Amino acid sequence: MVLQRTKYPSASPVQPTVQAGESPAVDSTLRPQTLDEYIGQEKIKEHLLLHIAAAKSRREPLGHTLLHGPPGLGKTTLAHIVARAMHAQIRITSGPALEKPGDLASILTNVQQGDVLFIDEIHRLRPIVEEMLYAAMEDYALDLVIGKGPTARSMRLHLKPFTLVGATTKAGAISAPLRDRFIQQFRLSFYTPPEMHRIVHRSATILGVLLEDEACSRVACSSRATPRIANRLLRAVRDFAQASGGSAISLASVESTLASLDIDADGLDATDRTILTAIVDRFNGGPVGLSTIAAMLAEEEGTIEDVYEPYLLQQGYLQRTSKGRMATKRAYEKLGRSLPESAQAMLFV
Ligand code: ADP
Repeated sequence: MVLQRTKYPSASPVQPTVQAGESPAVDSTLRPQTLDEYIGQEKIKEHLLLHIAAAKSRREPLGHTLLHGPPGLGKTTLAHIVARAMHAQIRITSGPALEKPGDLASILTNVQQGDVLFIDEIHRLRPIVEEMLYAAMEDYALDLVIGKGPTARSMRLHLKPFTLVGATTKAGAISAPLRDRFIQQFRLSFYTPPEMHRIVHRSATILGVLLEDEACSRVACSSRATPRIANRLLRAVRDFAQASGGSAISLASVESTLASLDIDADGLDATDRTILTAIVDRFNGGPVGLSTIAAMLAEEEGTIEDVYEPYLLQQGYLQRTSKGRMATKRAYEKLGRSLPESAQAMLFV
């Protein structure tokens, strides 16, 4: 079981959680710490501000909140921001880490008044653990069965009121009873190019990286509309530029870094292009099932579905139909192939 704690009293330094692949020092400096610093997702921020102010004035914890959206869009960051705004402690765990009901019970019994419990990948909770959450969310109670067989009896433990923040990349995989217990549900969207530009500019400033404006735009456009990827690319660009000397990082320098990472002008990487090429060339544009695509690429279905597909769908390269995934006109154009007539009839182009 994995549990991390961070206390956010009004004046405490932030020690955010570290995502895989990010160095602790860099992550803690780049992660926005307040809603003001958090770029984009304006509607969500507006609602959160309102709910936080209302909860504070009632001296109650914020209502349980579900955040969903593709990886790297800022769900964990928002959970930290909420805890900080409520001057609360955040406890962090994830669906797969809670193997047994006892794992969850030991966290819940240690929860303090107003704490934020962040469960990442909440759609991966085992049903037996998930069921324990229902009473905890609704009544701040824990129903335990003591003993076995005919002598078994149930006991209800009262918990301190807390806020559950659940994060998921797959809202559809969450059961209705769990979903319905979240008071607020927010879907994070991909960031617009101007928002991405601001995110890259902010991160570059924090890291002390001097980027020419065109270079900043290029990093922004090549980051799959995702802040985590923007930060990763920025660090790569900085390392490449540092190796070759010079002061402000130019567009040419960014382009050569992107080329060496095999990221094209539209921000697609080699795996994206392999997915599109496979659907177009081997399956005449589809429809193709997710399992077939995953087997062809020797990738996990979940990785294709969570990491690659959302951006390809959002950018209009792929279309999801009841029979499977189909390449769109834009995908054909990208690969320089002409769209067959049979595909024209099936696509909403
Ligand atoms: P998720 O939990 O959705 O996978 P994270 O919250 O871990 O994503 O975000 C990944 C990184 O992206 C963070 O460390 C932060 O530096 C950056 N980030 C995310 N959202 C924003 C935002 N709205 N503005 C600026 N940076 C952001």
